[in-house]
Amino acid sequence: MTAPVTPSPVPRSPGAWTAEDTEEVVCCLCGVRGRPVHDLPPFGVVRCPSCSLVFISPRLRPEALQRLYDDVGYFEGGVYGDAAQEPRRFDPAMLLQRTWTAGRLALLDRVRGRVPGGRLLEVGAGYGLFLDAARTAGWDTAGVELSRTGARHAVETLGLDVSCGQLADAPLTPGFDVVCAWDTVEHVPDPLDFWRTARSLVADDGVVLFSTPYVSSLPARLLGTRWWTLKPAEHIWHFSPRTHAMVLARAGFALTRVVRSPLAPGNAGRLDSLVGVARPIPL
Ligand SMILES: [Zn+2]
Repeated sequence: MTAPVTPSPVPRSPGAWTAEDTEEVVCCLCGVRGRPVHDLPPFGVVRCPSCSLVFISPRLRPEALQRLYDDVGYFEGGVYGDAAQEPRRFDPAMLLQRTWTAGRLALLDRVRGRVPGGRLLEVGAGYGLFLDAARTAGWDTAGVELSRTGARHAVETLGLDVSCGQLADAPLTPGFDVVCAWDTVEHVPDPLDFWRTARSLVADDGVVLFSTPYVSSLPARLLGTRWWTLKPAEHIWHFSPRTHAMVLARAGFALTRVVRSPLAPGNAGRLDSLVGVARPIPL
């Protein structure tokens, strides 16, 4: 498949955006402005003085974010490898993707107690690599993806049921047994809204699995503004296990497991990211 070409590249480095592309935001939990941690013009890394949640403010406005995710280059060269092109079986990034996918499906089996089948929703489905594997493993799958390029590939090339847009706008029937969000929640406009919407979609006895970078990781603490995952244009919320548990709890979930080891297949090679498991809190 030949990937569509955008006429002008979307800026990737912080300095390529201007102040007009940005807006100030407040903590999604406390509604207050953060205090400066790092200055990365036109962006700022701030920490909530009340709950310690770290976030980006100023950050890209929604329309600038959509331009970023529509850029065909967004997934290329990163963890998704060259997924828009013909998959290269032995591409290192693709091999890592497959390791994560297999590890995460195995983790799902363990937390679900090997109950066969069920309905699985992936939010932030990218090009559909995980969803394709989950379907092969017997799940009845659905996905949501903000990037039009990614969603188009998932639908047209892989034949997956993926809708393009924000989770809250997706035409989904509630009652999912599993909701997955791999490297997604750090990108969303409001993580509390995001997890509340996920709570409305997952069954009471369902489970949520996610991955995300964490700001209390050794690389984040040691490297400061040189932390490779800081990326202030796209990673706009930075959780620790503690602050993430607080957001999840407010949305009606209990964070029940955190996998931080870079040796765990679902988190292979990742020194600054974790895989989390959360379950709905009974009402
Ligand atoms: Zn706060």
